[in-house]
Amino acid sequence: MKKYIDLHTHSTVSDGSWTPTRIVDRAKKYGLSVIAITDHDAVDGIDEEAEAARKVGIDYIPGIEISTAWCHGRMHILGYFIDNHSQSIEELLKKLQDSRKDRVFKICERLKALGMDVPPDLVFEIAGNAHSVGRPHIATAMIKLGFISNLQTAFNKYLSYGKSAYVTRWAPTPKDAIDIIHNAGGIASIAHCGVTEGCIDNMPKLLPLGLDSVEVYYPFHKPHQIEYLKKFAKDNNLAVSGGSDCHGTVRGEPLLGIYKVPYEVYEILSEYHRRKSEA
Ligand SMILES: [Zn+2]
Ligand SMILES: [Zn+2]
Repeated sequence: MKKYIDLHTHSTVSDGSWTPTRIVDRAKKYGLSVIAITDHDAVDGIDEEAEAARKVGIDYIPGIEISTAWCHGRMHILGYFIDNHSQSIEELLKKLQDSRKDRVFKICERLKALGMDVPPDLVFEIAGNAHSVGRPHIATAMIKLGFISNLQTAFNKYLSYGKSAYVTRWAPTPKDAIDIIHNAGGIASIAHCGVTEGCIDNMPKLLPLGLDSVEVYYPFHKPHQIEYLKKFAKDNNLAVSGGSDCHGTVRGEPLLGIYKVPYEVYEILSEYHRRKSEA
């Protein structure tokens, strides 16, 4: 029987709607052999993922998806086989958390200037245990206080890029992110290049950054993009990765277990990691 995997998923630790355990259980239920939870700038789901995977008897890869800033906007870089308790990852998370908090204060200042007094404390209270306090929590606070009626309006009128209360936040460069992943013992794979603006055209320029892999298999990659990325990886001795980018039920029909990546991808990625670790 052919085996399948999914190496790109998001849990409640970032912006997904399923806990790590639920993701692993669903992966098992749908017959996947390997799962990777790759939360946005977060690794807190990995220990739970490991435990759940052990229980149901499937493999997992400790992963992360780091948002980076580059000339075309945001580029996402996946880290696989990372040591989630390493100093390298801890430092990144601390820096990101500080910048997120800082951004909440700055956005609240702007909203105040616009006549909407949204206390940062309320935003933090709404965020609760969520690790990435951010604009959705601010929007929720705005609704609570009666300034707007729904999340979409908050973004369209105030919080989206270029709007009156928008404030940018710090993000590592792609090179920083790749170094952080390497220092945590992992390998770096560029996520969904086919749908990130300017990414696929600039692949050759990204090579010198120390890239290990590219995400070839992705539900929104077109067949010609998959072919291009496969060839690009092969020509440059890179590994490949792939996954559904499932966020639970947040973005419509959950693709975990529906969109399947061939097991060989896991073998290629593991072999690449093994060779690199031994070198
Ligand atoms: Zn992404
Ligand atoms: Zn993702």
